[in-house]
Amino acid sequence: MANHSLLPVHPLFKNLSGQRFGRLCVIEYAGRSGRQRISMWRCRCDCGTERDISATSLHSGTVSCGCLRLERTSEAKRTHGKTGTAEYRAWANMISRCENKNDLSFKDYGGRGIGVSRGWRCSFETFLQDMGNKPTAAHMIDRIDNDGNYEHGNCRWATRTEQNRNRRCNRLVTYKGATKCVSEWAGVVGLPRYTIEKRLDSGWSVERAMTTPKRAWNRNTRPGVAVVVREITNERAGHGDRNSMQDHRRAAGGVVASTRGALQGG
Ligand SMILES: [Zn+2]
Repeated sequence: MANHSLLPVHPLFKNLSGQRFGRLCVIEYAGRSGRQRISMWRCRCDCGTERDISATSLHSGTVSCGCLRLERTSEAKRTHGKTGTAEYRAWANMISRCENKNDLSFKDYGGRGIGVSRGWRCSFETFLQDMGNKPTAAHMIDRIDNDGNYEHGNCRWATRTEQNRNRRCNRLVTYKGATKCVSEWAGVVGLPRYTIEKRLDSGWSVERAMTTPKRAWNRNTRPGVAVVVREITNERAGHGDRNSMQDHRRAAGGVVASTRGALQGG
C-alpha cells in the first residue's frame, strides 16, 4: 500500500495524476502490476467506480471503467431488442475473433485471414436474419467451409458434435435451404450416406436423391429387373443367349458361395 505513493524515478516516467481520459480521472500512481511490472494508475470513473488501469490502456483509448461500453450496448439494445441475447454475443464474439488482435482466438481466425462479410459486420440485424435464432444454448456459429469467411451461405448454428463432423466431412449439400454434409443428411432423411453420394454422382437432383426411398434404388430390385429382362428375351428369341449366360453366372456364384461355406465349416 505504502509504495503506491512512491513514484518511480525513471527519467521517462510521466506522472499522470490529475489527468483526464474521457470519463476517467487519474487519482494516483497505483504501483506496478503483474510479471511485466506494468505501472498502474488508480482512476475514478465519472460513474463512481474506481479501477487501476495501465498507462498503456489510458493512452490507447480506455475512456471509462467499462460503463461506457455497457451503455452503448444497451443503446443498441433499444434499436433491435436483441443485444445481450445469445445471438448478439455470438455476433460480437465473431467480429472480435476476426478483428481484435487482443482476442485470445484471433490467431485462429483473423490471424489466418478469416473475416466477416461486410453485410454481417455492419449489421447485427442482417446477421440475425440470415442465421435465424440460435436453436439451443449449445449451438455455436459454424463455418461450413472451415477456411471460408463468416458470411451468409457459409455459416449455420451447430453443436460441437456437428462441428466436429463437419470438419471431417468434405461434401456439402444444400437441401431445403440448409447446408449440411452428406453424412448428416443421411441421418436426416434416413438414407445411407453412400446411397446419397452415389445418386448425386450419377447426376440426380438433390431433391430426388434425398426423397427417393432406398428400395427403389438398391440392389434388392435388381433380381426383379433381371426377371423382366429374361422374360422379354425368352419371348423374343428362342435361343435366349443372354438368359443362359445370366443363369450360368448365377450358378457359378452359387458354387463359389457354397465352396466358401464348406471351407468355413471345415
Ligand atoms: Zn464508469
